[in-house]
Formats: sequence, structure tokens, C-alpha cells
Amino acid sequence: MAKFAELGIETPEQLLAHLPRAYRDWRVPQAIATLTEGEAIVVGRIVGVKERAGRFPLVTVTLSDDTGTIAAKFFGRRHLFGRFAAGDRLFVSGRVTRAGLLPEINVTAHRELRGDEPYVGEIVPVYGATKDLPSRTIRTTIAKNLDRLIATRVDALPPALVRKHDFPPLREAWFGVHAPRDPSDVERGRGRIVFEEFFGIALAAALKRARREAAGGAPPVEPPADWYARFTAELPFAPTGAQTRVIEQIARDMRRTAPMNRLLQGDVGSGKTLVAAAAIVVAHWGGLQSALMAPTEILAAQHAQKLAPLLLPFGIAVEAIFGSQGVRDRRTARERLASGAAGLAVGTHALLTENVEFARLGLVIIDEQHRFGVEQRAQLRAKSLAPHTLYMTATPIPRTLAQTKYADLDVSIIDELPPGRTPVATFVIRDSRKARVYDFVRENVKLGHQTYVVVPAIEAGETELSSAIAEAEYIGREVFPDLRVGLLHGRMPPKEKEAVMARFKAGEIDVLVSTTVIEVGVDVPNASVMVVLDAERFGLATLHQLRGRVGRGAAASTCVLVTSGNPEFLERLDVLAETNDGFEVAEADLRMRKAGVLAGTTQAGANDTIGNIVDDFSLYMQAKGSAEAIVSADPELAAPEHLALRALIDDVAAARALLVTA
Ligand code: ADP
Ligand code: MG
Repeated sequence: MAKFAELGIETPEQLLAHLPRAYRDWRVPQAIATLTEGEAIVVGRIVGVKERAGRFPLVTVTLSDDTGTIAAKFFGRRHLFGRFAAGDRLFVSGRVTRAGLLPEINVTAHRELRGDEPYVGEIVPVYGATKDLPSRTIRTTIAKNLDRLIATRVDALPPALVRKHDFPPLREAWFGVHAPRDPSDVERGRGRIVFEEFFGIALAAALKRARREAAGGAPPVEPPADWYARFTAELPFAPTGAQTRVIEQIARDMRRTAPMNRLLQGDVGSGKTLVAAAAIVVAHWGGLQSALMAPTEILAAQHAQKLAPLLLPFGIAVEAIFGSQGVRDRRTARERLASGAAGLAVGTHALLTENVEFARLGLVIIDEQHRFGVEQRAQLRAKSLAPHTLYMTATPIPRTLAQTKYADLDVSIIDELPPGRTPVATFVIRDSRKARVYDFVRENVKLGHQTYVVVPAIEAGETELSSAIAEAEYIGREVFPDLRVGLLHGRMPPKEKEAVMARFKAGEIDVLVSTTVIEVGVDVPNASVMVVLDAERFGLATLHQLRGRVGRGAAASTCVLVTSGNPEFLERLDVLAETNDGFEVAEADLRMRKAGVLAGTTQAGANDTIGNIVDDFSLYMQAKGSAEAIVSADPELAAPEHLALRALIDDVAAARALLVTA
């Protein structure tokens, strides 16, 4: 069982859901004369056998059919010595390594056929496997238990939908993917299985939304008609069209008693702070307080600093709640939030743990929401009956993925950068040319600008990876002895980290060597070059985030991704050189991942979908349409014919995960 666990298979359901990654069509043997290089099966009569002993034993069997002759090679299989004799019939499968006049096949599987025994072939599923658990073992385990495995599934799809899509019955669908008799069985079976799964997810999302709507309990806010004009009048710049549109969506949500549950996506620098400020101002019109939670103290402090001037004209005072705060400061902040004197609390998860009470909390804003656990979110919500909630993220989630992972959220997208930005020019450079990259960094410093050098590891270890400590020491001593080199990593005490960031912000550090602690939200406009070492170590989305650290000022900015010459790395990283659009990057990233493995969420089970949301997107949208129709007619799935649907939700891990999420 441990061997199965290695593949993420721990339950019968997961075994059933482990669909083959490919199929070998072994129904009809190929004529020897027509073979080309690649996988093949052959049935022939043995006309000759040669055996070679020694360290690398080899049995070569010459097979012939009506069309030709082939050398079938069995490598390293001493136990086959003396096994074959001229005149016997033999089935072999394997890889044809040489086609043409003297063809050869490297045999991976074979079977002797008695006398005139007809060859009965089949389509053989090939499973994702490990060294200890070969595909063949998985195949026999599944084949032996298929009926029992299928019996664990509920047959929940409403008959009308089965008819509408012309799906095969449940049992037939699973046999179609695990034991097809014809390639078309696979497609048909998979269609139903994926639809059913998506249907479960879409049902869960629709139910959750319906419950939220029905529960209500959020304080509705109706600001004066001219509130937006009054808000923008206080800004140093005009909001972009995208900002205005998104703010309207939020204000509309907040007019309702159903709590807002909205995800705001916007690339780094797209101006999410302004949108957050507008939401806070709307809440304030309704006499409500807001809380903004960020993943780190640095980011929380930055938010407080940026928001305070935007909120000041409206008389909204900001209080910060940090873990590292002194007792006196903390007490004052808590008092001002409890009394309602402060309109906004900004903080880290200390907001949850420090017993902070609000006079009238009505809006919760969570920055970079995926960094917070489900429980933490629920905790913050518990501080108010049903606050409006806005999640903000700079990690673009592809439209497709958002449909399943965040299916119950409304999504707003800021798809326009404020005017006057020059896009970050991105280059992919081989590490043999690192010295040239550092020359470029020196030029940049001469122009009065600062540079980030990002590395994947903190300390030099067993791995070959560049480490922050070693790199900082090396460039400080050998490359830039005359420049001010700083070091920042996640294992430094918070105070020290903040001190380094403060010095970088103040321009007292020219080159900052850092791990990804600088990843999100850090804003130093004078930094215009970002160098990433061992760039292949990072996901495309992370790299996109990282390069967003530069290009925040007026100077033209550059991101240099340094990697080995591995063509696979170069191709992947080139995506970033080609586009600055975070959504394109995210979609490309998703496409490059293997089917079924959806982006790195931390929610267990939420990613284990059979369907690939990118390739099967239209199927998802159909399932969603059907699910919403059912839930709008029967919001609690209480009708007898819908009881099985509840079981279906329970069957689909990703659907279950949706319903337990706050
Ligand atoms: P994000 O949080 O989305 O990464 P910020 O809210 O920090 O982006 O905004 C990035 C920068 O752009 C800030 O300096 C902000 O003042 C500026 N900014 C935001 N909106 C506008 C706008 N409409 N016009 C000009 N500058 C803007
Ligand atoms: Mg921000």
C-alpha cells in the first residue's frame, strides 16, 4: 500500500480515479513489413534462436510472418535461455529500434501462443507509475477489482443530463477508461467521468453561494450618490478605467445583505491599494469598520502607510496590529478599534490572535489570500456576523482555474496598469555569462539605481543552488567590493529584516541579495534591475511576481533570469521574456503542467481533479450551467431526486473542499 501512497493513491476512490496516461492498442498485430520505429506488437513464427551468455545476456529470436522477418531481442533475461524453439508461435510487444530491411524490436512483453491458438489482443492501459510500482501491477490491481471499485461510486447524474450528453452508464464509463475495447470507449467514458466531477464541483459552488445569499446578515451600505466623485476628488491622480469598474462592482456588492465574497486580481502595480481604499470608504459611509490583513509585517506596514493618506480626507483613522508591537501601542490600538475611534485595522495574523475587538466590523480585506489558512479566514469572519469580504491577489489565477478553485467567489480583474509605466524588459541568460550580468548591474548602480539579486536558497548546502548568504559574501568581496551589498532572507529575525528593507528603501543599499521574502508587494521605485539566479527553480508565476518588484518607478527596468543552458528551462522561462501579462503567464504555466495537477494550492484534495480545467473548460461550463439550474430550483437539494447529488458532492474531493472552506 505504501507503494500506492507514493502515487497519492490511498483510497479505493483514488485508485479508481487513477486514469491511464496512455493506451497501447494491442488488438491487431502489425505486419512486419509495415513496421516503423516506435512501439509495436508482432505475432510471428520462430525461425531461429540465438542465445548469448555473459554479463549482459541476450536472447535474439528471429520471427517471421507472411510479410517479413524481424529480430526480437530480449535483453538481460537469462531465464529465457532454452525457452524458445523454432516453429513456436510468439507474440511480442516492444519498441522497434530499426525498421526496414533487417528490422529489430526490443521486447518488453511477450507471450507464447499454442499451435493455432488465435491471437486475442486488447487495448492495454498504461498508468502513471513509479519504479517500485510498475504500470503492469497497477493494471492488474485495477482490472481485478474494477467492479468493486465502481461500486463505491454513486450513480448520481440526473438521467436527463445523461441523455442530453449521450453519456454511457456509470459502469460502462469506468470500464471504458480502464478496460476499453475500442479507443472510442475511452473518450466516451472519460467525458462522463469528467463531467460528473465538474458537476460535483459546480454544485458545491452553487450551493455555497445560495447559502450565503440566503443567510444574508451582512450590513448593507448605501453611500451618497456622489460618493465616488468625492472620493476621486481627493486622489493625486485619476483612477484607471479598470479601477473604476472594479470599485463599482464592490460598491454594488456592499449594498446587499448577502455578504460580499469577491476576489480582486490585479498584477503588481495595477493599483489594488486604491481599490481597497475605496471599499474602506464605502464601509465608512455605512458606519462600518474595516480590517485589512496581510501575510507579513513588512507588507502590512506598507499597506498602512499607503492607505492612511488616502483615508485621511474622510476622517478614517488607521491602527496597526503587529505581533512585534510594544504592549502600550497594542493597548492603544485595541482600545481605538473597540471604541470605533479607528476605522481601519491593518495587521498580520496578529489581528486574529491578539483578541482584537471591533465596534462594528463590516469589511474584511485579505491581501494575498492564498497565504492564509482556511481556519484563519473563518476566525476573522467570526469577529463580525457576516462581514463583506474582499480577497486581493497579485497572483493572476487563470480564468479557467478560478472556475474550480474559487468557484464560489465573484472575481474582479484589474486588467490595466496606471499610465506611464514602462514594461519590464526580461531576458533569459545562461549562467556561463553571469559575469556579464553583474557588469550590467554595475552600470545600473552607476546610474543611481538599485538592484535585487534573488536566489533560491538561504545557505549553501548539499545542493548546487546559489544561496543568499554565499552569494552576498561573494559579490560583496569579489564583484562589488566598492558597492553597498545587503542581505535579506527569511531566517533573519523580523527586526533585522525590516532594518535591511528600510535601508534599501532609503537608498543605502545598492545591491540587495535576497530570497523570495521580497516577493510580494514590496515597493522601492528606485530599484530598476532584478536578477534571478537559478531561475528555473521558481515557478513562472513566482518569477512574474518577482519582476513586478522593479518597473515601479520612471526608469526603464530590466529583469534578468539566469539559468543553466538546459533547453527545457530556456523554453519555459522564455514565456516571461515574451509577455508581461500576468494572466498569460499563469495560463502558460498551467498548460505546461501535467494534466490534472492543478496549481499549488495547500488545500488537500482540492487539486485532485481528473478533468483538466484548461482542456476540458467547455465541459466545465456546461456542468456549471446545469448545476446552477438545479440549485436555483432547489437551493438545498432537498428534493428526493436530488439526494444522490449530495452524495456526488461528497464523492468529489475538490467539491468537498469547496464546501468546508470558509
Ligand atoms: P498593487 O498593490 O496593485 O501592486 P499599488 O496599489 O501599490 O499596486 O499601486 C502601485 C503604484 O501605482 C502606487 O504608487 C500607486 O500610487 C500608483 N497608482 C495607483 N493607481 C494609479 C492611477 N490610477 N494613476 C496613477 N498612479 C496610480
Ligand atoms: Mg499592493
